[in-house]
Amino acid sequence: MPIVTPESSLPHTVDVFKLAVQGASLSGQIETAHLSRLGEVAPVVPDSVHAELEFFIGDEGFAEVSGSVRGEVSLSCQRCLGQLSQVLNGKFTLGAVRKDEDAVGLPRRLDPWLVDSESSDLHALIEDELLLNLPIVALHPSGACEPGLRFSFGEDESNVAGKEAGKDNPFQILEQLKKPS
Ligand SMILES: [Zn+2]
Repeated sequence: MPIVTPESSLPHTVDVFKLAVQGASLSGQIETAHLSRLGEVAPVVPDSVHAELEFFIGDEGFAEVSGSVRGEVSLSCQRCLGQLSQVLNGKFTLGAVRKDEDAVGLPRRLDPWLVDSESSDLHALIEDELLLNLPIVALHPSGACEPGLRFSFGEDESNVAGKEAGKDNPFQILEQLKKPS
């Protein structure tokens, strides 16, 4: 991937172990066009994803990544079916491992990040963290909207599909996190 981007853009891939040894910090935006999985579930408000990451070798000798991500998405309110804007905030502390088996040795405070090459997909990591922070049920504030016509033909179907997607998603995401991308 070309890294000819504005200086505020995060690189698509990084060498996690190298950055950890260097004690590097990264912060910047991710172009929302790169976040296609998130875009399928919740359209991303343009240019609104920002992440900060610190790479270092922790006390136990693991390469760690500590970071936060903030993004704004557009969701359908489950009460009125209208649009609502939701800010997603995620914080994470990850321990980079080269193999699934190595994750067993990680301190409990660290979530494993499977890194099986010198170029790890930073955009996918950020996208995972945003997906994990999606609300299970999106609603406008109480009293701010009226129930929509949930049981009319068509809308009921889409509503049920939306709920199922919301229910299934966290597990699918966890599965993806366990697998090498
Ligand atoms: Zn609403």
